[in-house]
Formats: sequence, C-alpha cells, structure tokens
Amino acid sequence: MPTPPSPSRAMTQCARRGGFRVARRVALKVRPAILIAAFIVAAATAGAQPLSTREWLIAGRLTQGGIVFGTAPPGTVRVTVDRAPVRLTGDRRFLAGFGRDAPPEATLVATLADGSREVRVVPVARRHYDIESIPSLRQPPPDAPPDPVYDARRAVELAAIRDARAGDSDALGWTEAFAWPAHGRISGVYGSQRILGGVPKAPHLGVDVAAPPGAPVTAPAGGVIRLAHGPFLLEGNLVMLDHGHGLVSAFLHLSRIDVKEGQHVVRGDRLGLVGMTGRATGPHLHWALSWRTARLDPALFVPEGGELTNGAAAILPPPRSR
Ligand SMILES: [Zn+2]
Repeated sequence: MPTPPSPSRAMTQCARRGGFRVARRVALKVRPAILIAAFIVAAATAGAQPLSTREWLIAGRLTQGGIVFGTAPPGTVRVTVDRAPVRLTGDRRFLAGFGRDAPPEATLVATLADGSREVRVVPVARRHYDIESIPSLRQPPPDAPPDPVYDARRAVELAAIRDARAGDSDALGWTEAFAWPAHGRISGVYGSQRILGGVPKAPHLGVDVAAPPGAPVTAPAGGVIRLAHGPFLLEGNLVMLDHGHGLVSAFLHLSRIDVKEGQHVVRGDRLGLVGMTGRATGPHLHWALSWRTARLDPALFVPEGGELTNGAAAILPPPRSR
C-alpha cells in the first residue's frame, strides 16, 4: 500500500481553534483577511530566472495551502508546474495548488507550438501554523491488538477517497468564486498541529465550521459529485465534489447526504446536512480542499466570515486578450 500521509486521518484530526499568520516573503504580501488577492507577480519577484519575454498572467494565493491561477503565454500547447503537466483550458488557463509545506517557489514551464519554452518562477509564501506542543503528555504505547476487520475496511475506504481525489476532469467549478459551504464559528483552522510528548500528530488539513446539526451544507462552487456515501469509519458520511482540473472538495461528518455520485451541481446546491458521523466530538462541517495530492486551505478561497457576493474575479481575473 502507498505510504503518503493518510488523507483520512489528516482530514479528521480536528485541532482546537487558532489563528494563522502568513509570513512575508520577497516583495509579496499575502494577507488572508483580504480575499481579493489576484495580482500579477512583478517581474522583480520572479527570482533569478531570465525574465520571460512573453507574458504570463499569474493570480491566486501564492502561499502554502494556496493556489496559482495562471494563463500561459499565447501559443502555449503544454504547461508543467514543477515538471508535472497540468490541464489547460482552450484559452490557456490552468491551476496548481501548493501543499501545507510546499517549497518556497514553483516553476512554471510553457511549451509553445514552435517547441520553444517559456519559464516563470513564482514565489510560494511560507505560512506559520498554529502548533501546540505538550511535552508532558506522553503518548501511550499502541496496546490495541491489530484489527484485521477494521484494517480491511479502512483500506477499501482509503482507496475510494483516493480515487475520488484523483480526478482531473474538465469541469470548470475552479474558475468560479467560492462561497462558504456552511456558516458558523470557525472551530479549527488549516495546518494546525499538536505535538504530544514530542510526537507530532497529523496536521489538521481542512477548516472546521461549527454549525448546528441539520444545518445545510451547500456546494461552494460547481462541479461533479465523485463520492457520496458513508458512514466511513473516520469521515462519517462523506461527499467529495470535483471542481475540475484536479481541484476536489470533501465534506465530512454529514448527518444526511442529498446528492448522488455523478451528479452535476452548481454553487449553492445542497449536498447534505451538518452532523457528527464518523470521528467527531461535536456537530461541525470539516471542509477539505485538495489539488491532486496537495492539501489546500479552503479558507483562502472564500471571503472571511461570509458569503461571496462578487464574481469569479475575486480569485480568477478573466484572461486578457492581447
Ligand atoms: Zn476538522
């Protein structure tokens, strides 16, 4: 079996409330409170690489847990991000996400129809996460005997989650402005981690919204339902929504699921109801967002504390014709 960090465990490790701060890096300011953060990276921040003579349009949240929305130079037929090919729209738009501990820059390479290449290096700002260390709290040795029944069921669940996350469809929900899927106090933030007796626990790779049981959970943006069943051992009743181009939302602990796999939804459609199925200590929505295997911070996609009232320009400026 693969050994990358268990998505399900990370999904359900809900840490206590905490704020996050974002470091300044190079001349780039990333302020989570400000949601309209689309900007063109100045050539001066592009690093030591020779400056491209053909224009890229770069927007998004260039930070760990964030995302780059790009438009490749005219004539581009292929784009890679850190050597991995990404899906392009007909007008050369693409996205790529940065995981919790992503390196400080990403390299975008466009291959043009004539075989030439255009390179752009974008900075990825470092985040400071809410880390709580409790040295005195020793972790008990694993005394529970192996449970083959549990392990077998868990393996099936993890495979289903991986499959749902592996999609790279041509859906375009990722080009929309995102809205909060539920409303309430933010009871857990992305990236936080507890270190108990010197042993780091899995970081919290989602955002928790404390909401009353039965409150609606709605699609933050459009897409296709890739998984809608449960209860999973940890995630409970789980819905996974493919926004296209590798961007996938997951909604955990639902008390009820109102959608079916393969169903197309638009922003605001009801997916289910808030609950506490699976491993949860109280009713809440855990919303996770991933790009391929990178786990993103959903809070970077939505306005702080409320619904988005503007259009997609908040995160994705329309491509400029030249
Ligand atoms: Zn959580």
